[in-house]
Amino acid sequence: MTESKGLFIGLLLLSLVVVGVLVSGIWYLNFYGFNLLSYGVLLIISLVLSVVSLILVLGIIGILLTIRLQRPIKSLVIPIKLVIAYFLPVVIHLGAFLGFDKEEIQSSFIKMSNQLINPEDIEVNAQDILILLPHCIQLADCNFRVTSDLDNCQRCGRCQVDDLIGLQKKYGLNLAIATGGTLARKIIKETRPKAIIAVACERDLSTGIQDVYPMPVMGVVNLRPNGPCVNTGVEMEKIEKAVEKLIFKEPIGEKIVES
Ligand code: SF4
Repeated sequence: MTESKGLFIGLLLLSLVVVGVLVSGIWYLNFYGFNLLSYGVLLIISLVLSVVSLILVLGIIGILLTIRLQRPIKSLVIPIKLVIAYFLPVVIHLGAFLGFDKEEIQSSFIKMSNQLINPEDIEVNAQDILILLPHCIQLADCNFRVTSDLDNCQRCGRCQVDDLIGLQKKYGLNLAIATGGTLARKIIKETRPKAIIAVACERDLSTGIQDVYPMPVMGVVNLRPNGPCVNTGVEMEKIEKAVEKLIFKEPIGEKIVES
């Protein structure tokens, strides 16, 4: 397990320790202190925190086993989903408190999440794959509005929308540009893909992966040579590699998301 991916898992384990200490402390108070009223309140808090701890333990075990065995552990999909959906903000806050960079934690989460995908388990043809792009990949001064219809692109080659359309046509993929989370969800609903290759910044990718899990989403962090949200780019070879791995069934390594 590499250090970058390990950061997220390490912080998850630390969250578990924090919750575990809390639960133990409250259970201790249940047995050795307080009057009947506070006892009842503490008992409820203890039970809730115990369930949270159990979910966290099962989710972490599920994540580690999935990465180790390179296949999903069906019985642990729900705790993994809960951990991915609800613990990322906790982990980010904990990491920030410990001095880690928020983007670094999100990037670690994306790498870990990519490792949870095994193409062997996804029966997917090219037409089942959706490549989802952020609108900032289009050149800001382009006069053709491609967010509503990619066919409006004149393929002048001034931005990577041209390359991505080329890749779409080469494999017969679905390609769409989303201007935000709501539109992304709408596109996914309409396209009904079996796998998504999403390009975005660390924050949007983390949120998107959380939103649609257990739908397999391979996250590719975008390039931002001009700062965030303007004339961004993507490493085309990472996208093509992800497409080929999904179609030709090779285990997916984190090379896809290394930037
Ligand atoms: S390739 Fe050219 S026409 Fe197409 S979106 Fe980029 S700048 Fe606009």
